[in-house]
Amino acid sequence: MSHYLIDHPPASRQFGDRHEAETGCVVVHTPESFVDVHPPDDGAENVASFISTRTDPGSYHEVVDSDSYVPLIPDHLRAFHVAATGVNQWTWGISICTSAADWGLYPAWDSAALLLTGDRIAAYLARWATRNGDVSRAWEGVGWITAAEAHAGKAGLIHHGQFQADRTDAWEIHPLRAILDGVLATNVAASLARLLSPPTEPREVPVLIVVRNNKRYLMFPDGLLIDLDGAGPPGVETWEPGGAQWKRLVSVNRSARLHRGNLDVDAIPAK
Ligand SMILES: [Zn+2]
Repeated sequence: MSHYLIDHPPASRQFGDRHEAETGCVVVHTPESFVDVHPPDDGAENVASFISTRTDPGSYHEVVDSDSYVPLIPDHLRAFHVAATGVNQWTWGISICTSAADWGLYPAWDSAALLLTGDRIAAYLARWATRNGDVSRAWEGVGWITAAEAHAGKAGLIHHGQFQADRTDAWEIHPLRAILDGVLATNVAASLARLLSPPTEPREVPVLIVVRNNKRYLMFPDGLLIDLDGAGPPGVETWEPGGAQWKRLVSVNRSARLHRGNLDVDAIPAK
């Protein structure tokens, strides 16, 4: 894989060595750039070019837009993406080329960009887990984590704003935060399911509870909707990544576990 800032040496230093091991913590950013809704979407290409010419520190490992991504810095190097002591040493930074306040204004763009971002984060988690000797560990990075959990070494997704009080990206204070969190985590899980063999142990994966026309649905990583108010028990579905038959195990905290064997359904939150 070529990396833009290796091929285009930046005007100012934008990366350095890591002095701590990666923990599988993925920091999600927006660069506060303009959304490019006119194909081709040059958002990521423009941000990559900007980073190579800027004279102050500010970089990511990868930038992504609605139709393309640009790897900037190899995983084994430290990007300058979080101005909080030591965090860049063990995190990996990806930036979705829009502005935090623009989420929801361009739904088709958001949807495409979040799908591609899910793929790119899943690919990173698979590389990270492989370097640690067990690709199935990539599943550990699917959910959102707190700054305290990240500092304790837990893998997962986190907003830049969680680490740095003066930042509100990727969508730290946005009214759609819960939905955007759910969509991205779900997309990461769906992408991992395509990349990897099914986990041998049950793993938590996110599901979204979607309300449409006063009906509640569960949306699973592969996009399947289950009508929670329909006749019969919800969730009697199979999912077959890697050929093995998997069942969905739904729990109350908007998560589902992929489980070999029979399906059990816990209480579903009331409307
Ligand atoms: Zn940021």
